Amino acid sequence: MTVSDMGLVVVGAAGRMGQTLIRTVAETRGVRLVAAVEREGAPALGRDAGELAGVGPLDVAITDDPLAAFAKADGVLDFTSPAATVTFAGYAAQARIAHVIGTTGCTAEDDARIETAARHATIVKSGNMSLGVNLLSILVEQAAKALSPEDFDIEVLEMHHRHKVDAPSGTALLLGEAAARGRAIDLQDNSVRVRDGQTGPRETGSIGFATLRGGSVVGEHSVILAGTGERITLSHQAEDRAIFARGAVAAAIWAHGRKPGLYTMRDVLGL
Ligand code: NAP
Repeated sequence: MTVSDMGLVVVGAAGRMGQTLIRTVAETRGVRLVAAVEREGAPALGRDAGELAGVGPLDVAITDDPLAAFAKADGVLDFTSPAATVTFAGYAAQARIAHVIGTTGCTAEDDARIETAARHATIVKSGNMSLGVNLLSILVEQAAKALSPEDFDIEVLEMHHRHKVDAPSGTALLLGEAAARGRAIDLQDNSVRVRDGQTGPRETGSIGFATLRGGSVVGEHSVILAGTGERITLSHQAEDRAIFARGAVAAAIWAHGRKPGLYTMRDVLGL
């Protein structure tokens, strides 16, 4: 590790992704952990970030002062909650640094505030930071484009661990967006996010979502294109959160020194 390495802050440092990010930063060349942030009153405050994440001491104590942390950093890795992410985007804009956002469940209003922050911060935001899911989104877009809505119905099925708080997952929505793009329609106006009771028959051209929650599942997604007499399933299984953390660190390195704006993982991966 050298001082010329990109200095990164992990916010939400004690979370499932926060700890995975700390481990990934510690083992990636060209980056170093300069700060780790948790919310005020969090039990992890004051603990060494490396010890908390199980990689041995990194000499970085977990703090509840994001402004001081951002002032000494080149980039922020953020997998927290929508409210926290909107605040952190504002701080990243003030510090004019890179902000990698993996947080899901943002409302349209949250996204508008993140877009405003992207005038001064270089923001990479994606509902899924893995190479596999971003490649899958390209395949979904192609399949949706090739198969007509009259002949093939599109459904997105996902399962996650019992602690997940938002639904459908950011990844399910990312895949739904890809399908909608392939069909040149707006997802918002054509999605069915819940079905219950007397729903009537399926509306032609709609994109349906189904959500399963339970156990320790890291993330499973299938996009099903169902025709009469045949069915295509495009799917991805995440076995380890490290795939998201590696993608997030790659995004931070890509964003370092790039002009402010709002980017996606497809930009980072050149897909
Ligand atoms: P988690 O274990 O609950 O971690 C979130 C952490 O952020 C918690 O430690 C939480 O603290 C902390 N936090 C919340 N608000 C904060 C604030 N204002 N200041 C500092 N820390 C704050 O959840 P997770 O499973 O790691 O997931 C986090 C987010 O990433 C979710 O939105 C999830 O969907 C998303 N995710 C995205 C990807 C992707 O590739 N894009 C992959 C996996 C997960 P408290 O517990 O005290 O609230």
